[in-house]
Amino acid sequence: MFVDQFERKFSYLRLSVTDICNFSCSYCLPDGYQCHYQHQPLSLAEMTRLVKGFAANGLSKVRLTGGEPAVRKDLVHLIEATANISGIETIAVTTNGYHLPQHIQDWKNAGLNAINISVDSLDAPLFKTITGHDRLHEVLQGLEMALDLNLKVKINAVLLKGQNHTQLPLFLDFVKKRDIAIRFIELMQTGDNKSYFDRHHLSGNIIKQHLDKQGWKQLPRQVTAGPAVEYIHPNYQGKIGLIMPYSKDFCSSCNRLRVSSQGNLHLCLFASKGHSLRFLLQRDEQQAELISHIESLLYQKEKTHYLQDGYSGSTYNLSMLGG
Ligand code: SAM
Ligand code: SF4
Repeated sequence: MFVDQFERKFSYLRLSVTDICNFSCSYCLPDGYQCHYQHQPLSLAEMTRLVKGFAANGLSKVRLTGGEPAVRKDLVHLIEATANISGIETIAVTTNGYHLPQHIQDWKNAGLNAINISVDSLDAPLFKTITGHDRLHEVLQGLEMALDLNLKVKINAVLLKGQNHTQLPLFLDFVKKRDIAIRFIELMQTGDNKSYFDRHHLSGNIIKQHLDKQGWKQLPRQVTAGPAVEYIHPNYQGKIGLIMPYSKDFCSSCNRLRVSSQGNLHLCLFASKGHSLRFLLQRDEQQAELISHIESLLYQKEKTHYLQDGYSGSTYNLSMLGG
């Protein structure tokens, strides 16, 4: 198992499969995707070797993210290749839901178990304002299909002051009869969004206070769980989760490593740089060297991020790394 010097264990990999995205979320890519460099993502073979290397050292969960993973034409093959790797129990995708109704059955057939769909608002005009796309209907249609296919479904919603922060009742209504979890993610400052962050960041405590008042109860944290805090209510089938990266001790439960689509290991979402692994993904015989290289890099993983000091490392926006 990959372990760092603070005894944190890493059984979960977030693999970004592309930097490219077709949405223009106001907090992430307000001007849409701009190509700043020669985009040459890891190939299917390189990604498969990467996941095999991690799995040989205790990895059990992989999330394919982006940019928008669905823009990658071979995504279904990536899901299949990953799902077939011994030791991988959960294969998940995080998506903006673009063309989800067309894809979801194929992804499920390829071995997908879980899906996080980003829905920052359940109000169509506001969804369009935030994402730049009038596609709420399509996204929700894909979500219902994912539920019918018995996939584990979560909604990601970035909490935005002055935009969706007053829409908690709509979200609560949505989980009343649906077995899904909605995760409210506090807006994070990245290299590109400083003034947006200052205007729209809001602590997740505002949601916590509403939930407490309405009788929602916090679930006990599992030792192996990630940083989300989850709430349940007897009258609701679904759950509400809060991801509050600015809260104290957020990093103590970190259980994930990230690899960019360029093949760089990022020890934290807000690390100052990524470490190239691509050169160790060229032949199957390099697996032992890959594992020992990752082990040695892990010793550089810091105890916490410095987001609260306004330091967002080398991450200009989360489409570079997948959130
Ligand atoms: N394009 C896909 C999507 O939107 O689901 C996958 C990549 S996206 C970077 C992954 C998640 O990060 C999304 O739920 C998105 O809302 C979230 N995200 C992006 N920028 C963020 C920021 N600055 N703060 C908090 N969450 C952010
Ligand atoms: Fe694209 Fe996801 Fe960023 Fe929105 S949050 S612009 S969908 S990468």
